[in-house]
Amino acid sequence: MGEVSEDAVGRHRELVAQVRAHDRAYYVLDAPTVSDREYDRLFAELKSLEQAHPGLVTPESPTQRVGAQPREGVVKAEHPVPMYSLDNSYDLGALEEFDRRVRERLGDGETPVYVAEPKIDGASLEVIYRDGLLAAAITRGDGVMGEDATANARTIRGLPLSIPEKREVILRGEVFIHGADLEAVNVVRRGAGEEPFANPRNAASGALRLLDPALTAARKLRISLYDLVYTESGAPPYFATHSDMLKGLQDWGLPTHGLEQRCETLAGVYRYLDDFESKRSGLPYPTDGVVLKVDALSQRQELGFTARFPRWAIAYKFAAEQATTRLLAITGDVGRTGALTPVAELQPVALAGTTVARASLHNVDYIAAKDIRVGDTVVVQKAGEIIPQVMRVVLDQRPPESVAWTVPTECPSCKAAVVREEGEAALRCPNGRCPGRLRAALFHFTRRTAMDVDHLGKVLIDQLVAAGLVQDLADVFALPSKRDAVLGLERMAEKSVDNLLASVERSRTERTFAQLLTGLGIPLVGASAAKLIAGLYPDLPALLGQDLGELEEKLAEVHGIGAKMASSMVAFLGDPQERAMLERMIALGLTSQEDTSAGAAGEGPLVGQSFCVTGTLSQPRPVIHEKIRAAGGEVHDRVKKGTTFLVAGENTGKSKKDKAESYGTKVIDEPLFRAMLAE
Ligand code: NAD
Repeated sequence: MGEVSEDAVGRHRELVAQVRAHDRAYYVLDAPTVSDREYDRLFAELKSLEQAHPGLVTPESPTQRVGAQPREGVVKAEHPVPMYSLDNSYDLGALEEFDRRVRERLGDGETPVYVAEPKIDGASLEVIYRDGLLAAAITRGDGVMGEDATANARTIRGLPLSIPEKREVILRGEVFIHGADLEAVNVVRRGAGEEPFANPRNAASGALRLLDPALTAARKLRISLYDLVYTESGAPPYFATHSDMLKGLQDWGLPTHGLEQRCETLAGVYRYLDDFESKRSGLPYPTDGVVLKVDALSQRQELGFTARFPRWAIAYKFAAEQATTRLLAITGDVGRTGALTPVAELQPVALAGTTVARASLHNVDYIAAKDIRVGDTVVVQKAGEIIPQVMRVVLDQRPPESVAWTVPTECPSCKAAVVREEGEAALRCPNGRCPGRLRAALFHFTRRTAMDVDHLGKVLIDQLVAAGLVQDLADVFALPSKRDAVLGLERMAEKSVDNLLASVERSRTERTFAQLLTGLGIPLVGASAAKLIAGLYPDLPALLGQDLGELEEKLAEVHGIGAKMASSMVAFLGDPQERAMLERMIALGLTSQEDTSAGAAGEGPLVGQSFCVTGTLSQPRPVIHEKIRAAGGEVHDRVKKGTTFLVAGENTGKSKKDKAESYGTKVIDEPLFRAMLAE
């Protein structure tokens, strides 16, 4: 290394370690802990350090490789041609620099024409057709070796299982999840006590790598193909330009984004960027930038690749929206599994179209690592435009009297001493009778995907728990016998009590066993596993009648359940308190209906979502209702618990929107609604 200073070597070592750790969190665990912008800043520093001191570069440096190696224990597959990343930048100057480099390399007499197209925020996938049939799909992995994702790729909506072209075709594309579908996935994850996905890309990449294709199918993945790499007859085979190739793929019935535009000049590229930036929020899929590519495939061959990316393309990335505000307090929410999530209470601030007053702080380690203190000015960001999170502290605005935050020692709800299990980032309330845990469990139990008790929102749950009228899940079914006490609660009128009790009755007699199992919130047992278990035992008495040892063995064998879920299930059933609660449910007359949904998911982009339509829209309301149903969605005549979206036309009153928000229903306008329907 000769003249390289010790400082440079030390900093290099530090940066390599940091980038590696972030790569693992991002690519392997699908759970990044810093923003892309922060990661890109570290990466750029590493690159410039290596440029200044080429002796520091080793083949293992993150600047010389793409992504991360496939996980241990999964089926790996080699890419026939290496799969690269994209050079990227957040500033327009880099596009000019890119244009200059391209022209210089192409030499005189060759003028590049560019194609600008959306950079969809998902996970890249290689898809191979042989003899016209979808034969293989491989994740990018480290660019040379990826994970075999063939079975999961078959569940991707819009990806044909066969195409008319019979020669071998190797394609690359971006797998993604519609914003609305991701929200649904995150609702389910929160319900199951799991961390919601921080951004759409990690959700897509995680879904692609699930071991059970049935679970992948539930995530509603989609794909947009953007490259034809190589075929038997040589590369590039049938097309002279990228834009012709995209049209050719469409002719074969393959999905492409359809938003590409040829640009003869950089001025044309800037117009595309402006135009795209204003319309991207109306697209149903997430985008994080625009990709600029040389159109002529012969020029691409001339330009070639570096160790990480093609020299003929560059991504211009849009910065995630950020805002700066004051951190007023750090409070904690306790989930039904007892996990404590620290929450930042903020001075309300406008961010990406909504007012943000609370943001995620992930876990106690995150707060300690970033030394986040009450009273600090903090930068908040909507990761992947969804969940606001506190990214960092603006240190020079820290009040002089500020003190470091102290990790809570007791549960915010029941004051029990919290515990922290080895290797776990989360603190837990160990008290099985904690009212905070009970409230979260009741909310989950009564939601639409589970026991569907209408008229039972967060406020009423709080009241019922505080009054001691509900002390466990079974008590929900005992409410009809406590009519007078319920009526005695604040703000409860005869009619609202009647509605609530009628809804409890329906829940007690009209739900399926799978819905009951989902609602119980047994750790790791989500809706898909619940369905599988309900396929084996018709109802609760049948399940309770099983010998637990045999049950565990049997469940562990089931594809889609496995050993961990089986042992969690058996631990739940073996807990005397839980068992007594389940037996009381039976004694209170709980019956399960047969599941007639046959497991087949409905069709259409709105499956699993429910809508209430209000205000003045461009078409009569019945027409819009019909469109929702035709696209697989459900129509609610008013916003209620579990309504996913309120489509708010013109003149929608503030009170309606506020009510929707209090139910956790997302308020969307007509253009966004139309974008969700567009397919
Ligand atoms: P990238 O996401 O910046 O860009 C390359 C990818 O864009 C391609 O692999 C492809 O999947 C996708 N893409 C979407 N539309 C495309 C189109 N039309 N044409 C071509 N490609 C298209 O690069 P990357 O190598 O996948 O990831 C690196 C980036 O990931 C970093 O710059 C950073 O932003 C982020 N990252 C973040 C962390 C973190 O901890 N926050 C860690 C690692 C990486």
